[in-house]
Amino acid sequence: MKFYQLKQDPSPRYTGNLNASHPWGLPGVEPCPTCKCGGAGTGLEYPCVDLSGLPPHELKKLSDFWPVPPAEIERLRELVRPLAPKGAVLEPGTLFGPLKGTGLGYFGQLFMEDPWSLCVRREALEQLKEAGLRGLHGCPIQVRFRTKHAPELFEMQLEMHGLYHPDCLPPDRKPPCPTCGNEFFTRPDPVILDAASLPSDLDLFRLRQGSTNILASERFVETVRRLELDGVLFQELEVR
Ligand SMILES: [Zn+2]
Repeated sequence: MKFYQLKQDPSPRYTGNLNASHPWGLPGVEPCPTCKCGGAGTGLEYPCVDLSGLPPHELKKLSDFWPVPPAEIERLRELVRPLAPKGAVLEPGTLFGPLKGTGLGYFGQLFMEDPWSLCVRREALEQLKEAGLRGLHGCPIQVRFRTKHAPELFEMQLEMHGLYHPDCLPPDRKPPCPTCGNEFFTRPDPVILDAASLPSDLDLFRLRQGSTNILASERFVETVRRLELDGVLFQELEVR
């Protein structure tokens, strides 16, 4: 089985742009006393998770990204966990709820505002589901379009799977931080995926060890090409 990374098609005809954000999220975390890492991760998003039923004073804390102590992250995480999908990765900076804001321009059938966010038009999503692709869970975005034929976009909520193969990581890397578990590596180049860590029952997911990467199975890519859906490009990644 081959796996591919999704990238926005840079062609100038795709002028689509969203000025939108997720309503809630876990704050950043204060720097770790041991390794000094901290802040918030990028790319962790659960747009279908609705936190609106939580008490207003908690929602205020879940709308402020100013770093908080690890214990407070832990508390907020447990508050959110029952509302999140089973096995969801809930790290500092994880975002929740549908995109809200404004949009304009021309959108392809698939659209990536950022490398870590994939939106799919309603008709394309239906076609992909009908084709039998698995792991397609979309949330309608709440965006006002200043365009005549506004697209009906769904943002995909993705499970996280897949690790880097040790062969693509530097051999002299430090062990994870004993206090916070931070793994001290940057994205390997080129990326080699560990075959055993990749899902066999999903056609679209987020890379567990690099949450800004959205990956698709060979089946997904073949289906998108057969249906002639536009807006994204696919780059094959090595699997070992
Ligand atoms: Zn640390």
